[in-house]
Amino acid sequence: MQKVAVIGAGTMGNGIAHVFAQNDFTVNLVDISDAALERGMKTIEKNLDRQVSKGVIDEAKKQSTLANLSTHTDMASALGDVDLVVEAATENVELKLKIFGDMDKYSKPEAILASNTSSISLTQIAAVTGRPDKVIGMHFMNPVPVMKLVEVIRGYATSDATTKTIMELSEKLGKVPTECNDYPGFVSNRILMPMINEAIITLFEGVAGVKEIDTIMKLGMAHPMGPLKLADFIGLDVCLSILNVLYEGFGNPKYAPCPLLVNMVRAGKLGAKSGEGFYDYSEGPKSETISAQFK
Ligand code: NAD
Repeated sequence: MQKVAVIGAGTMGNGIAHVFAQNDFTVNLVDISDAALERGMKTIEKNLDRQVSKGVIDEAKKQSTLANLSTHTDMASALGDVDLVVEAATENVELKLKIFGDMDKYSKPEAILASNTSSISLTQIAAVTGRPDKVIGMHFMNPVPVMKLVEVIRGYATSDATTKTIMELSEKLGKVPTECNDYPGFVSNRILMPMINEAIITLFEGVAGVKEIDTIMKLGMAHPMGPLKLADFIGLDVCLSILNVLYEGFGNPKYAPCPLLVNMVRAGKLGAKSGEGFYDYSEGPKSETISAQFK
């Protein structure tokens, strides 16, 4: 495999493109918007500069990585000669089904089609293509150039050959690929999101405050940050939507999103990206100030 396309130049797409390009793949980065492509490329350059300043790579590697990247708004021409397409567009079922239909139409019949989705069924996505055996989940973690895990998700029809190719490829990228089957939330979010939801229920029921819940989980379980802070960084709307996928997918009330989470999303308190969630980010993303609502 030499040539890949990445669909979506946002948070995850530019990170995925960066990692492939840094590992000597030719990368066609595709987005619907020129502005998004420009932002994506600027982020890649900034992250490469950081790697150079930390001594992780040298200037020549930065330049060769950038030379491996090209940007495109026309999917048809960008997909024609690639061996793998990794889709990292906005998390929306209808959009992903449409994009996978196009990916199937425009790419070579032998190309593998992967999705970075956090919660949408790979089996459902694969069903809109004529090659469900070649559709697979490559769930990278944020920030992609730093995080080692790739959760490799096998849809109902994903073949052993496709899985083997993607496991080996992920290793070539310096990642630790780990395989699981396609059920709601896969492994990562099936375990993470109920923990976050339970932390919110614990706050909602007045068992402890924001600081206490996060300190107990951070220091007691050796987590790098508490679950409420993590929820703020993931985005409370994203947490709610993944919990709804678990709730609907399993039909089990244990996954029901906490009413406090639902209310916060309705109020537009989405965490760090909106300036407020469980913490107040008006002073910047590193803020430890508890939101006025929870003081
Ligand atoms: P984002 O909003 O930062 O970027 C999405 C990009 O997709 C945007 O640039 C948008 O212009 C582009 N896009 C939308 N429609 C498109 C189309 N038809 N063709 C091409 N590009 C299109 O989103 P993100 O956070 O990078 O998430 C992307 C995917 O990665 C989602 O499936 C998400 O669930 C998954 N994911 C996100 C994270 C995370 O921490 N952000 C972690 C793991 C997985």
